Amino acid sequence: MTIEPDTKFGDWTVLQYLGADVYLCRCKCGTEKPLLGGNLKRGHTTKCRKCSQAAKPDAVRRHPLYPIWNGMITRCENPQAHDYANYGGRGICVCDRWHTFANFVADVSPRPPDMQLERADNDGPYSPSNVHWATGRENSNNRRNNRLVTIDGVTKTVSQWAETTGLPAPAIFARIYDGYTGQDIIKPLRHYRPRQHLC
Ligand SMILES: [Zn+2]
Repeated sequence: MTIEPDTKFGDWTVLQYLGADVYLCRCKCGTEKPLLGGNLKRGHTTKCRKCSQAAKPDAVRRHPLYPIWNGMITRCENPQAHDYANYGGRGICVCDRWHTFANFVADVSPRPPDMQLERADNDGPYSPSNVHWATGRENSNNRRNNRLVTIDGVTKTVSQWAETTGLPAPAIFARIYDGYTGQDIIKPLRHYRPRQHLC
């Protein structure tokens, strides 16, 4: 059932249904934004970004986990976020508990240096049981470099082969797409010999 125009959710007023559970809403400050009906009904959003920033104490905005938390919510819940299609658009959501920043901080602190949040099940939610800190490399293993390659009976992801052999992952990909198989995929790169200048 669609939400009626003029319904209020916190500082948002619903203006118009746009389709696919997305509603054009207006914040009390006048900012208009398309929002997911599910997020409005669950109270996941109550005001625009500008108004919620203004309502947040500096301690929250300056917290080292704040950009991570904010990025997670945005890519899952803002249909206008540039990577929404890969997150919210695929049904990836943030658990109710983590809509409160303090709960998120309590569950994931401290952030180890240079680590990123990774979901164990790539199709699962951002929630305490599905999230851990991982290096960027592990994280990318779980995404585009998760293609499995078997060489002499050993199966690894492209990233893992790159790590074992010292070859750049793009070079391994290029060889796979060129039709190489077996050891040919991971043979050493030929040394590049620059052409001699004649003048
Ligand atoms: Zn506002």
